[in-house]
Formats: sequence, structure tokens, C-alpha cells
Amino acid sequence: MRYISTRGQAPVRDFSGVLLAGLAEDGGLYMPENWPSFSADDLRAMRGLPYADLAARVMTPFMAGSIDPDTILRLCRESYAGFASKAVVPLVQLDSNLWTQELFHGPTLAFKDMALQLVGRLFDHVLNERDERVTIVGATSGDTGSAAIEACAGRERVDICILHPEGRTSDVQRRQMTTVLAANVKNLAVAGTFDDCQDLVKAMFADVPFRSEVHLSAVNSINWARILGQIPYYVAAAIALGAPDREVDFAVPTGNFGNVLAAYAARRIGVPIGRLVVASNRNDILSRFLATNDMSVNGVEASLSPSMDIQVSSNFERLLFELLDRDAAATATTMTEFRRTGKMPVSDAAWQRATALFIGFRLGDDETLAAIRALYAASGYLADPHSIIGIEAAAALGRPGTPMIAEATAHPAKFPDAIEQAIGIRPPLPTHLADLYEREERYSCVPADLSAIEAEVRALVARNAA
Ligand SMILES: *Cc1c(COP(=O)(O)O)cnc(C)c1O
Repeated sequence: MRYISTRGQAPVRDFSGVLLAGLAEDGGLYMPENWPSFSADDLRAMRGLPYADLAARVMTPFMAGSIDPDTILRLCRESYAGFASKAVVPLVQLDSNLWTQELFHGPTLAFKDMALQLVGRLFDHVLNERDERVTIVGATSGDTGSAAIEACAGRERVDICILHPEGRTSDVQRRQMTTVLAANVKNLAVAGTFDDCQDLVKAMFADVPFRSEVHLSAVNSINWARILGQIPYYVAAAIALGAPDREVDFAVPTGNFGNVLAAYAARRIGVPIGRLVVASNRNDILSRFLATNDMSVNGVEASLSPSMDIQVSSNFERLLFELLDRDAAATATTMTEFRRTGKMPVSDAAWQRATALFIGFRLGDDETLAAIRALYAASGYLADPHSIIGIEAAAALGRPGTPMIAEATAHPAKFPDAIEQAIGIRPPLPTHLADLYEREERYSCVPADLSAIEAEVRALVARNAA
């Protein structure tokens, strides 16, 4: 399988090349040159498979020529073996035609684990074959750093250093990162804001001698492997509820558009998906686009669902490329214009193609709390402030006779303050994290200073080089 950039000016790569490269050199995002296709019989043959085996089957054609099928199967089994649900991504029925698919049974209680547990192992495998090492650096405001750390902890070919703003993450969030004691993990508490942390990471990448000295890399949400690791659960849910012989719909709590793009990919490879609901919080650039063809940047506002607080959805460029019939030059021009003016010019024809499949939905904070409360009162089911937005979207936009599946992206215990606001109870951590507050923490406090942070990264690399 070959991968091409959405902007057409970067080298064509195979899967391993795309995994290690992340962003393409021309600023574009990698996409498979062709969508593989699964027939109705292929899908029927997946009925009843364990999740890891189904995932391997779905992903194998995307890695053809890079990673052999036996290795893919082994890595998938290892990635999902530690999940707290044997089903890995269980479906819970909430109403006669409404299900939620829980994607939060991984080590950090959020759906990022679905892809990242696999991506960490893929890095190790590919780097081992090439006899190389990389150092992953990243900044987090709290809610996503832990998934990257858990993905890399204990991997042989990878070191990881994550910067968080000192004293500005919640205790759960900090502890989910700092209690991972593997020798290849370093947490830095930076005396500054999240923006300072992000700027420092950018500055490390811009420091070319440093960047090549420590083989800097990232596992951010634009990496194709992250999208790929999210396609199989759409296939699994659809098959469990009747595909290929019956159509299904999905509602997806959306931020950077990675998760819902994976749903789109599932449709492209042959899963009969009728409707995709893009559910957002008050940061509703996507639902405004879908309602009125207005993709204009407004600034970010903090909400109760911080992982969906985005100004621009970085993965939207992949959909744009598809809407423009894979015209890379047109995609590049549109993105340049968007960056220059803050408004994306999309033709009526392209917009109509988007609205034929995607529907937007928006839920503000007050409605989010009310919905958590109402669902809990009616059924005893406790949804986190991200997942509830998908569930509300699903309930509002489901179609009679068609199964509607709302993706649940985080465990309620990950956002205890919001849950307490909604129902007056702090949800307990699940068993595998119950002792989180007793575990030893390890992190270093550093000033917001590039050379101090580079020295920490060098020390990490030196420690594990031997
Ligand atoms: C990352 C995240 C999202 C948004 O997913 P995208 O792929 O960025 O659209 C939603 N909910 C939770 C809990 C997340 O961590």
C-alpha cells in the first residue's frame, strides 16, 4: 500500500515510512493511494472474531508491503490484551435503536488508547527492523499526554518526554502520567502555561542539530497510523448490529476530526454506514460548516469537554482532499487560503458531498450537564462529558429502523469534577486504577527554558542508549 500527501508535493511512502514521518514535508497529511475494499462476504466472515483478530484483518491491507500479517495479528493481540473489558470495545444498548460503544477500557480511560497502544508497538517493530531509535516529545494540557506515555512506556526503541504545565493539570491527569515509572519515560513539569509547553516543543523541533542528535519524533493526531487504529471498532460495531446486511449510523464526539474520519474510512472500505453525526461542544466550527458552509475560525473557549476544545480540526484536511476528488493542488490552495483568511473556501458541490453523509450537532455546557443527569436518572448509565454529547446527538438524529451507535470516548472517572457537577457524586476509578492516588510519582520541575529542557531530553536519551 502506498501513501500520498493531500498536498501532492511530498514523497510517496509505504506504511512504515508514513508511521515514522507523521506530517508530510509539504505540510499535507498522508492518505492511502487507494481504499482497500472488503466485500459483503469478507465482512460476514468477521462475525464473531475476537476484537484483536478483527482489527488485524481490517488493517492488514493498509500495511501491505510493510508489515506481514502474522506480525500485525501479534501486535493487535498485545495492544488490546490489557484492556479492562474482554470485549475491548463493548456495545451497551441504551434504547431500542440506540447503542453506545465504549472505547475507554484502555490504560488511560480514553479512546486515544485504541490507536496509541498499537502505534507504540508499531514504532518498536519498525525501528527494530531499521536498527534505529527515536525520542518522542510532546506537550499536554493534561488529558492526552497519558495515552502517549502509556503507548511508549517500556518500548525498546523509543524514549518519550512529555511536558505539562506545572500545577495546571488535574491530579488525576498528572498522576496518570507521572506514576508511569518506566526508564524510557520522562515527565517534565514546566513553570509556565500549556502554550509555553507547546512553544518549547516547537522550538525543539526547530533546533535542527538537536532534532537530529536525539532523533526527535511525535505521535500526534495527524499521523495516519492513529486514524488506522480507529477504523476497526467501526467495523466491529457495524457487524455486531447487522452489517453488511443492514445499514448502521454513528455519532462521534469530535475535536480534531480523527475519530469521525476513521468512521468515514470504514465506509469507504465497504461498511454500510448511512449517516455520520459530527458532535461538538460550544466550539462548533464543524457543525457550522455542515449547516451553512461556513468554516471560519472563531477562537477556542474552554468547555466541560476539554478534549473537544479545538479551533481548527487538523484532520479535516483529509476529508477535504476526498471532497475535492483527491485534487492535491486544490487542497493545498484551499488550506493556504484558510490559513491566510481564517475562512475555508469550499465550493457548493464539495459542501453538498459533505452534507450528504455528515450531519453536525452541537451541545453547550449546561445542556451537557443536564443530559448526563437525565440519562443517569433514567437508566443508571453514567456518561462522561464527551461521550454524552455523542449520545445526545445520536438520540436526536437517529433514524427509525436503523441502529445508531454513539461512540463513548472517555470513562466518567476521568472527568470527576464535571460528573460531580451533574449528579453530585464523584465516580470511582475502575479497579485497574483504583490505587492511582497511592502510587509513586516521578517528574522533574523545570523552568520554561529551551536549553534546560533539551538537557533533560539528552539525559533521558543517554540513560537508555546503552
Ligand atoms: C481526543 C478526544 C476526542 C476528540 O477526538 P478527535 O479524534 O480529535 O475528533 C473526544 N473525546 C475524548 C475523550 C478525547 O480524548
